[in-house]
Amino acid sequence: MLFRFENIFQDFSRLLFPHFCVACGCDLKHRDTILCFHCQQELPFTNFFSLPNNPVEKSFYGRLNFQAAGSTFYFTKDSLLQYLLSELKYKQNISVGYYLGRMMGYQLQLSERFDSIDLLIPMPLHPKKQKARGYNQATILCKGIQSVWNKPIAENVIIRKVFSNSQTLQDRIHRWENMEGIFELKERAQIYQKHLLLVDDVTTTGASLEALGSVLEAEKGVKISVATAAYTI
Ligand SMILES: [Zn+2]
Repeated sequence: MLFRFENIFQDFSRLLFPHFCVACGCDLKHRDTILCFHCQQELPFTNFFSLPNNPVEKSFYGRLNFQAAGSTFYFTKDSLLQYLLSELKYKQNISVGYYLGRMMGYQLQLSERFDSIDLLIPMPLHPKKQKARGYNQATILCKGIQSVWNKPIAENVIIRKVFSNSQTLQDRIHRWENMEGIFELKERAQIYQKHLLLVDDVTTTGASLEALGSVLEAEKGVKISVATAAYTI
């Protein structure tokens, strides 16, 4: 009888507060997801976190002294994943960020290669950009990760002090020149002898992560690893 009441309550609640798949718009039964079963099947998982020498790690060889690196999804143009990331970055759709973060958290936990992580460090946004957007999308990903993989988040340990516009058309060398000196370490004591996981939305050239990681790894006893939601092929 109780079971039936629960069903009736759920049906009633869905009638009053409908909940739809963000990708295809179909009705969702459960409130703790944003995608229907069919759309979830479309997500291009990489399995990189469990895989030593994966393409993300290869892209950082010789540039960054890291313990482990990876991305949860492949990023391709005009894909569902591109749509989800644009919802997170430009449409204030924070629930998409929590969802993608949770997917990252499950995979990080499963891989066991990231077990010694002490702190999650979201890629800092320039304060002006963060104010305009209202949040840092990398922090939202960290909160999603944290909800399934209990690691503390350290915001404001390091800040972005130079405002840079979108650099999508610039090459890697030019980007690196633009990246020098843009981050400033603020809370040295918080990261002392810690293993840090740098978290960002997409790895394209990796220039921002390389610049951020270079500042942090220069600190005594600090180890770094990298996790992004998506990897550009
Ligand atoms: Zn759907």
